[in-house]
Amino acid sequence: MGGVPSGRVHNLINIAVFSVVAGGVLLASNQNIVTVVPTQALYFTLAYVAGTFLLSPDLDLAEGHVNSKRYWGVLGFLWAPYGMIFSHRGLSHTWILGPLTRLAYLGIMVGIVFGLLSLVFPGVRVPALPQSFSFAAIWPALLPLLLGYYLSQWLHLIADGVRPDHGMRHGMRKIRKRF
Ligand SMILES: [Zn+2]
Repeated sequence: MGGVPSGRVHNLINIAVFSVVAGGVLLASNQNIVTVVPTQALYFTLAYVAGTFLLSPDLDLAEGHVNSKRYWGVLGFLWAPYGMIFSHRGLSHTWILGPLTRLAYLGIMVGIVFGLLSLVFPGVRVPALPQSFSFAAIWPALLPLLLGYYLSQWLHLIADGVRPDHGMRHGMRKIRKRF
């Protein structure tokens, strides 16, 4: 199997790895080796599923037709600017920053959509963060969310043959080209 895996192959790989991880965790918790809080397992699963199907690195192709854009249905067009901004397998396919670019983009899009909605329907408000926002309080939810999201993203990059220092080398190449 040569070349870059298709969206379908990426999905199959991620589903297979999830089954193995879930099976392993279930076995380990049955043997009382680990304790899994159900809500944390749920957060991990949700983030992993979102990372696999809705926030795939291949959204950098969303200016055209790509598998990961189709899962957004009628909202798929919202990712077209992301595809135009990010070159295929560039920054979008780096290990740390790449996944963050899609979260930031999603945040901006949600902000724009709420902003437009509130123009049309003045009653609509962006849900506000609770007044007493503390990192310690959200960490138990944030950790499984980050783990699930990043694991789904890294499996995509591994299947693509992208190494963890890709971003640095990519950046260096750009800098070298400039001089
Ligand atoms: Zn890819």
